[in-house]
Amino acid sequence: MNHSPNNPIFLSSSLHVDDARKAIAQMVDELLAEARLLNNPAEINIVSLDQAINRILAEDVLSPIDVPSADNSAMDGFAFNGKCLETNSLDITLTVIGTALAGKPYEGKVSDGECLKIMTGALMPSGCDTVIPQELTTSDNPEFITFKQNQLKPGENRRLRGEDLQRGKPAIAADRLLRPSDLGLAASLGIASLKVKRKLRVAILSSGDELRSLGQPLESGCIYDSNRYSLTGLLNRLNLEIIDCGIVRDDPSSLKEAFIEASTQADVLISSGGVSVGEADFTKQIMQELGDVGFWKIAMRPGRPMAFGTLKPVLGQSSAKRTLFFGLPGNPVAVMVTFYQFVRSALLQLNGASQTEVPLSQAISETPIRKKPGRTEFQRAILGRNAEGRPTVKLTGSQGAGILRSMSEASCFIILHHDQGNIAAGDWVDVALFDGLL
Ligand code: AMP
Ligand code: MG
Repeated sequence: MNHSPNNPIFLSSSLHVDDARKAIAQMVDELLAEARLLNNPAEINIVSLDQAINRILAEDVLSPIDVPSADNSAMDGFAFNGKCLETNSLDITLTVIGTALAGKPYEGKVSDGECLKIMTGALMPSGCDTVIPQELTTSDNPEFITFKQNQLKPGENRRLRGEDLQRGKPAIAADRLLRPSDLGLAASLGIASLKVKRKLRVAILSSGDELRSLGQPLESGCIYDSNRYSLTGLLNRLNLEIIDCGIVRDDPSSLKEAFIEASTQADVLISSGGVSVGEADFTKQIMQELGDVGFWKIAMRPGRPMAFGTLKPVLGQSSAKRTLFFGLPGNPVAVMVTFYQFVRSALLQLNGASQTEVPLSQAISETPIRKKPGRTEFQRAILGRNAEGRPTVKLTGSQGAGILRSMSEASCFIILHHDQGNIAAGDWVDVALFDGLL
């Protein structure tokens, strides 16, 4: 992609969110092709299961065994040969000849007219293929059970060998972002470690003369740097390596030095601040020397200004890779919105994940929301339920781009798409949850 500032996409007065996303994805593809990050043995780590959460699986995990390893019972009940169901009499009575427990199989054979008391997970005894659940049987005498012939079919309530997973077949697919269930699944196969893609190294810095680090005194007109902490939290959720480059003052030589330092170490640099209209010219100058970066005005709220591109490899750097660069706006809410909308999926894509998009769901807006067509809005809201049990959303008060409390109190974004206009109370809207059950 020609992503230089001369590319029309970069010149357009207001860039559609979808076009920004496409341009970013294209750039990441380019970087991947250059660096051959994927399938490069040097870029793969072997980690134990307890370290593997949120890492990206580098190759298919093949099942070394059949799961289950043998036919077994899916219910607590009585196992018997299903042939006895092919009868005209309504009631069937069987003699109980023993018990099979999970981990304690019954060694003998079960003949016609007989059954075995069986617990969930116990191996199906020889001669049996069907299980009648305990609650469907009656019994006056522990040696016999009776049940209705029409309550089940031969073969029911039995789990077959290899029904979940077959030996040699993929149990977990490559490129998956590993979730708790994947770790449990690997463990159930006796697999103690997994091959995962190496952690991306992501450098973060905050730029602005008014910013102070925690612990420093606040002079008049100064504020604490909060963006690095929001970004650290966001990045930690992706189990990445974070390189904290601190606060950089608004002067060309400090900024230049910090950018060069970050790009020698990191795959990706995320800065915040210094890209708004007043400051962009100054940053633009530096970026022209260090790389190829476009300054975008995105048709979105919050988060309108954003710089995006790559930094040149630093001379003498061994890997000689370009560094992906995101210059996020300084406003604390805009930082988080642009991270979720653009940075998160780019990081996942760069790390070779198969799924990179933020999943959307829908809820009913409790109130009207004013919205102008022609830009995408990310309003902070709280998800709830109405009297009918349907999902609802209501805004978290003032929606200014600098009001971090609106994010902190919210549980989701309401996403109002580019062409959407005003929302009436009761309308369904798209929402993106901050937390999901994964
Ligand atoms: P800028 O994009 O640099 O013009 O910053 C926009 C607004 O965000 C200004 O009010 C800044 O003071 C504020 N801001 C910039 N960086 C940070 C930061 N790291 N933490 C908190 N607020 C910030
Ligand atoms: Mg600034």
